[in-house]
Amino acid sequence: MGKTDLLTEAERIHREVLVLDAHFDLAMDLLDRTERGETNVFRTVFDPPFREGGVDCVVSSIFVSQRFLPEQALRRGLDQVECLRREVEHWPERLAFCTTVEEIRSAAASGRLGIMLSFEGAEPIGNDIRLLSVFHRLGVRGLGLVWSRRNYLADGCPFNPVKAGKAGGLTDLGVKVLREAERLGMWIDVSHLNDEGFYDVMELSKKPVIASHSNCRNLVPSPRNLTDDQIRTLAKKGGVMGMNGCSIFVGNGPGPFTAGDLADHVDHVAKIAGIEHVGLGLDFCDGFPAPPGESDLLPSRDVIAGHGRISELTAELLHRGYSKNHISLVLGGNFLRVLEEVLVS
Ligand SMILES: [Zn+2]
Repeated sequence: MGKTDLLTEAERIHREVLVLDAHFDLAMDLLDRTERGETNVFRTVFDPPFREGGVDCVVSSIFVSQRFLPEQALRRGLDQVECLRREVEHWPERLAFCTTVEEIRSAAASGRLGIMLSFEGAEPIGNDIRLLSVFHRLGVRGLGLVWSRRNYLADGCPFNPVKAGKAGGLTDLGVKVLREAERLGMWIDVSHLNDEGFYDVMELSKKPVIASHSNCRNLVPSPRNLTDDQIRTLAKKGGVMGMNGCSIFVGNGPGPFTAGDLADHVDHVAKIAGIEHVGLGLDFCDGFPAPPGESDLLPSRDVIAGHGRISELTAELLHRGYSKNHISLVLGGNFLRVLEEVLVS
């Protein structure tokens, strides 16, 4: 098949199978834009690319920027939950807030976009384990213990090596919170954890675990990517890792990089662990302004131009000989398998 035919076939697949992005900073950007006075944000900014790319479900992070820590972490977390849930309530014909796989499937079947919530760092609960249950009641179903910094639960991994004192694994509170999350029926997300914490989670968790947005360290040596041993360990527990579309995790050097470079990471995980452990956690950031003091994340660029274009990755996988069945696992099937095992209805 030629390039255009591959893309047409990829777009057809996106309309047919369930497509899930396990990581997008939707609630953060939605709240920031709303506070800046923008209106109709979901309809005008976010929805068109989701439709174009045939996306059926997106997991929004709850992420608190450094400038709000520590005093405003809880408030910021709650504001993001409220802002997102209000947006969903105001557009029920198109949006569906989901906490179970059944809800995701039924939203997709009726042409609505399913939206889930997951912590990217547990700063909003501080050191109060009861607040985890409060957020669970508000609909949060995923828990990334840390972002790339230290908190009460664990040590995050930096984007690039930094000078710092000895890093540790999970704290005693981190262990308790992990157990509480599993009891409540939340998935654990190890993206942004440091290596010590990663192996602690592997040892302590009783259910499959995800790395919502991490690539292969074998290909790009960022501490944010997983080593081959970590990928195999995650896979052995039945977990899934979401392929991250930010260029600093996709390729070495200045780039530019493309969907083809991202497909190399899919190939690598498929080769060493199996295609059943690959998903999407695209982490698209080009649309977000860099928060003050966090410009160290730049100059990362999305290797695909947003959700509207993710069929470029699918076309590349078709070109490399992946079956439609395997592609549907990558696009959403694998994550749904984990969610089915973890979420409690
Ligand atoms: Zn992240």
